[in-house]
Amino acid sequence: MIEGKTLEQWQAEYPLLELIRGYEPVLWTGGKTYGADETIRALPLGKEDVLAAEVRLRRFAPYIARVFPETESGGGIIESPLTGAPDMKQAIEEMFMVPLEGELFVKEDNKLAVSGSIKARGGIYEVLKRAEDLALSAGMISEDGDYSVFAEDRFKEYFSQYSIVCGSTGNLGLSIGIMSAELGFNVTIHMSDDARAWKKEMLRSKGVNVVEHSDDYSKAVEQGRLESEQDPKSYFVDDENSKTLFFGYAVAAVRLKEQLAEQNIKVDGNHPLNVYLPCGVGGGPGGIAFGLKVIFGDDVHCYFAEPAHSPCMLIGMMTGCHDRLSVADFGLDNKTAADGLAVGRPSGFVGRLLEGLIAGVYTVSDNQLFRMLALARITEGFKLEPSALAGFMGPAVVPDDGGNTIHIVWSTGGEMVPEAVWQEYYETGKAML
Ligand SMILES: *Cc1c(COP(=O)(O)O)cnc(C)c1O
Repeated sequence: MIEGKTLEQWQAEYPLLELIRGYEPVLWTGGKTYGADETIRALPLGKEDVLAAEVRLRRFAPYIARVFPETESGGGIIESPLTGAPDMKQAIEEMFMVPLEGELFVKEDNKLAVSGSIKARGGIYEVLKRAEDLALSAGMISEDGDYSVFAEDRFKEYFSQYSIVCGSTGNLGLSIGIMSAELGFNVTIHMSDDARAWKKEMLRSKGVNVVEHSDDYSKAVEQGRLESEQDPKSYFVDDENSKTLFFGYAVAAVRLKEQLAEQNIKVDGNHPLNVYLPCGVGGGPGGIAFGLKVIFGDDVHCYFAEPAHSPCMLIGMMTGCHDRLSVADFGLDNKTAADGLAVGRPSGFVGRLLEGLIAGVYTVSDNQLFRMLALARITEGFKLEPSALAGFMGPAVVPDDGGNTIHIVWSTGGEMVPEAVWQEYYETGKAML
């Protein structure tokens, strides 16, 4: 029995499960595309939370510019470019033999400063908020003061008595680890054994404690949580349930609105946005989708993209059972080269919050991810990690209604991948073209 039903009953109720169980790429469009304003009004979180997060990041901008000089030209705002990808669009049209109306843009979170992935949004934001909370209650700053003082030794000394703890398969650990270490926190990242070796090495080189676990990822997270809860000076970043992380991601929507305006791209009912977001546990894509619905309402349609071997959000959304079901319940192995998306059970918090706001979820095979990885390099020069390619299938998979759709593919990571590791990905993909 699976949540009170037999497999046969599940399959009868949700025919798509048969394809999902066979690891076939599928598209589920049972989500909700319209009525965003009403849906959001009924939720416990809203626009004011997203805007407050955006303002907090602006308070920290002088500090970020000071400690991460690569962000200086952007005024200490960590943001990724929105890039037109006409050659990639043409390549997708040829590969899938589908005509794509409208333009294709790539939101290059792979180029986000400091940690080179979408996790630089939520992870860095949560650590900054923790630092601000501590400094405010210690009377070391005021909200209208100059936050570049956070770089001073007295702050580092103060934060060194506090710890930050996180369980992570990789990119979240990088973001939390780098930011926490820079502020002077004592930071510990719990990782599973199979996390990429280079990520562990990079973190250790920055003074982060990396604890490896031979059990699975969720046990590593649980272990970290338990240890952290025993220590009042310790702060645990909860990948699955953190609202702070979620709002950090959501700020992307405010920035995207500015970028679209700068590039004279009009968004309205006749020029809708289709946004394709790679999904693991759900916090990153969920936060961004929430922000987008808050800002653009019914003029944006958000699709989550998952590996065919790890369709946890798809199963959770389709059945409405969210974190009560895991992919293993349906016999799926959760094995994928897209390590940022290799998650067997979705965030229940994100699933329940977003169920009335996203348009659909689709899955992709690892082979497709590798093919797209090579294609994105050849056509546009992008350096992406496998997880970051899931969104690229969106324009080919999601039926295009109307010729004015603006397709935005969220490319979520890649910049930090060592060259030799990346070359292997590339060769794998190129051999499949
Ligand atoms: C974490 C991650 C995602 C997905 O984010 P979730 O919050 O886990 O859903 C997508 N791409 C990359 C590269 C990631 O590291």
